[in-house]
Amino acid sequence: MSSVAPADGPPHPSAAGSASTAASFHEMWADLSPVGRDDDSGGYRRYAWTAADTDCRAWFRAQAESRGLIYEVDRNGNQWAWQGDPLAGDAVVTGSHLDSVPDGGAFDGPLGVVSSFAALDELRRRGAEFTKPVAVTNFGDEEGARFGLACVGSRLAAGRLTAAEAHELRDADGVSLPRAMEAAGCDPSAIGPDPERLARIGAFVELHVEQGRALDVSGDPVGIASAIWPHGRWRFDFHGEANHAGTTRLEDRRDPMLTYAETVVAARREARLAGALATFAKIAVEPNGVNAIPSLVRGWLDSRAADQETLDRVIAGIEQAAHESATRWGIDLRIARESFTPVVEFEHALRDELAKLLGGGIPVLGTGAGHDAGILSASVPTAMLFVRNPTGISHSPAEYAAEDDCVAGVIALADVLEGLACT
Ligand SMILES: [Zn+2]
Repeated sequence: MSSVAPADGPPHPSAAGSASTAASFHEMWADLSPVGRDDDSGGYRRYAWTAADTDCRAWFRAQAESRGLIYEVDRNGNQWAWQGDPLAGDAVVTGSHLDSVPDGGAFDGPLGVVSSFAALDELRRRGAEFTKPVAVTNFGDEEGARFGLACVGSRLAAGRLTAAEAHELRDADGVSLPRAMEAAGCDPSAIGPDPERLARIGAFVELHVEQGRALDVSGDPVGIASAIWPHGRWRFDFHGEANHAGTTRLEDRRDPMLTYAETVVAARREARLAGALATFAKIAVEPNGVNAIPSLVRGWLDSRAADQETLDRVIAGIEQAAHESATRWGIDLRIARESFTPVVEFEHALRDELAKLLGGGIPVLGTGAGHDAGILSASVPTAMLFVRNPTGISHSPAEYAAEDDCVAGVIALADVLEGLACT
C-alpha cells in the first residue's frame, strides 16, 4: 500500500482523529501484510487451517489482547474479540475473514478485520461510551479454497452446514476438516450449529473491499450493500460423435464443440441484454485429443443477476439457444443445475439505519459475490459496507484499495458502531 497521504481540500472536523486512526490502520496492515504471501506470484495463500492461516489467527489474537479485549474461539473455530460482556446479548458484531483464495489479493477479508480493530481504536479515541457489547470476528474458512465449500465457519454457526457434512469435507490430500482443525491446534469436537451465540447478536456489519467498480464509477469511497445477487451453476453436456479430424467430412460431423461455442456466445449476449452476468470458465472435453472430433464437451455456466426473474430469463435464453444449436449440429444436449443460491436481501431497517448514520447520498449497491454476512443474514440482522476498489479486480494480487479510502471505511464503520452500540 502507499503511505498515508493527507487528504486534499478543507480539513475535516475530525482530521486529528483520522490521522491517528490512519496510523493504527497502517500499522496493523503492515504487520499482517507479509503473512502467507507467495514471493513469486505476490498473491496470498492463506488457506484454512494451514500454517499461514494459523499465523493470521495468532495476529488476530495478539490484536485482541493488546487492546484488552476478551478473546474467544467458538465451537467452529471462528475467532471473537469482545469489548464488553460476550454474554450480555444485543451485541454489535463486525469483522470478516483472514483466509484467501489461491494467490488472492490483500484486501478481500483482511480489510474488514483490520478496519474493525481500527474502528474500535477510533471509538476509544472519541471517548465513546458503549451501551452494548461490541465484538470483532474472524470467520474461519470463508473462501473454501482448501475444502471446496465457501463460508464454512459461518455456515456451521448458522446451521447451514451440519457437523456430519463438515466431517465429510476433505482437502486435495484427503485430510478431513476436523483433522485439519486439530492439526492447527483447534478442537473440532463440538463443531455444529451455534444458535445461542447468534441469538446474542443484535446486528452484524461486515466491511469488505468492493469486488466491482460501482463505487469507482459513482466516485464514492464507501457504499452500503443492498443485496447479494441470486446465483447458480449449471452443467451443459454436449454429446456428439468422436471421429478422425483429418478424414471426416465437415458435413458428416456431429461436433459438440460447435454447439458449446455457440452457447458461450449466446450466454454473453443474454447476460448483456439483461444487465446480468454469465460465464463459462470450466470445460471438460472427451477424448481431448488434438486430432479427434470430441464425443463430449461438458461446460459449466456460472450466472448471476440482480433478481430472480432476470436470472431465470437469462438462463431460459441461454438454454433455448443451446437447444437450437444442438438441433442444428445433431448434438444430444443435457443441462443440469448443480447449485443455486437465492437472493440475499440485507435487512432493510439496519441498512436504512446505516444510511442515516453515514449521512445522505451514500450509494447503496448490490453485489454478485458471496460473504459470511450473506450466510448470517438468515439468523441475524446483517449489513455490509463496501470500500472502493478502483480496478474492480478481486481474487487476484491486483486487488487494491487506496489507503485514504481504507481510512474512510474505518471512519464509516466507527460511525456505524457508535450509532448502534454507544450512547
Ligand atoms: Zn471476502
